[in-house]
Amino acid sequence: MYNPKILERINPTIVKQYSYCPVIPWIQVKLNIYEPLTDSMKIAVENTHPPSGRGQVYVRGSRGSAIIDEIVEDKGGRVIVERKAYRSHNYSRYIEQAVSTYLIARSVIPGIRKIKLVVGNRDNIIDISEDLAVDVERILDLIEKSLNSDKPPSTSPNPKKCGSCWYRRYCPHY
Ligand code: SF4
Repeated sequence: MYNPKILERINPTIVKQYSYCPVIPWIQVKLNIYEPLTDSMKIAVENTHPPSGRGQVYVRGSRGSAIIDEIVEDKGGRVIVERKAYRSHNYSRYIEQAVSTYLIARSVIPGIRKIKLVVGNRDNIIDISEDLAVDVERILDLIEKSLNSDKPPSTSPNPKKCGSCWYRRYCPHY
């Protein structure tokens, strides 16, 4: 049954986890089980705070909620700044996460034109294209549908991922 409160649980972190394995957000939301923060996760949270004197922004829009590391004004419009402490071998997950922040924020903060993804000391400016937005919008739709279902999303266990997955002891597919 459709539950409008599910929207409150959708955020860019869930998008990243869904891209890794669609079962993880389902376990989190349906079974209310969350992996405790590891030391490296805590360091990542500390290292991605905005510079002193500036603040993060919490937004709640029609597609979910997000904490934006920073929003800066540029001559072409507003820029969402997303900081990551570590490089990932799967950079596309960072992009999906950043674009989902934009999709969640755009209904409440107009004029966002770009995303600045800061990974370690490197900046990457992402121009928001309609194709990119449509792709990530599709992921948000899939997540919303999956979290409104009592059945876990189907997936084939992947030994590479499942072997190191903290959620496997609760996983209906493992
Ligand atoms: S054990 Fe495998 S299938 Fe289950 S949640 Fe983890 S990665 Fe996904």
